[in-house]
Amino acid sequence: MKYAISPPPQVSVTVRDSDSHFPVRRVYCVGRNYEAHAREMGKDPTREAPFIFQKPADAVVVSGSVIEYPPQTRNLHHEIEWVVAIGKGGFNISTDSALQHVFGYAVGLDLTRRDLQFAARDAGCPWEWGKAFDKSAPCSDIVTASAIGHPSQGRIWLSVNGVTRQDADISQLIWSVPEIIAFISSSMILQPGDLVFTGTPSGVGPLVAGDVVAGGVDGIGSVGITMAPTAAQ
Ligand code: MN
Repeated sequence: MKYAISPPPQVSVTVRDSDSHFPVRRVYCVGRNYEAHAREMGKDPTREAPFIFQKPADAVVVSGSVIEYPPQTRNLHHEIEWVVAIGKGGFNISTDSALQHVFGYAVGLDLTRRDLQFAARDAGCPWEWGKAFDKSAPCSDIVTASAIGHPSQGRIWLSVNGVTRQDADISQLIWSVPEIIAFISSSMILQPGDLVFTGTPSGVGPLVAGDVVAGGVDGIGSVGITMAPTAAQ
């Protein structure tokens, strides 16, 4: 194979207690998957079908990254999320067998340009510009399911400069991990390397340059970033 230009590097996340990396293919994100967060977004948290959006794989950056405040926004928000790493692909996966497709778990941030997201939402346009920008998906290392099993509860939290902003439990997900896997795979073929950000609890809020952000899911891992001023253009 001879490429006309250099192929882009494979994005990957480290696997805990391993010398191997998890290659990232796609990043699926679940919207409004905690009741209190749906309410703070001005929506009724009824159990309608989940909705999904994607971020590009190269939006994933490692925990500990310094992230320049992104362009075109004045309201960048943090969203702490439990992340599922798919190790075995499939189409029309049943909820009963869904967890067999999970390689492991991580903790991520669904960074959101909230002003752009809401402007798009109100105009009936795609969320893309609000959600799928560069470095919008910081992610921890992955702990394997073979190491910790398949958690269904655990505190999920986020702090900014040491002050807690988000504090909930992953047991409060409206749509469980098996249900999310079944739902996505009914529409798209899930493949090894896919990450699924499962949604954020309430308490989302703005970040500014200089903020030190830390978050985690107890029993799974932690993720942190530092916000820097907007990069010089
Ligand atoms: Mn989110």
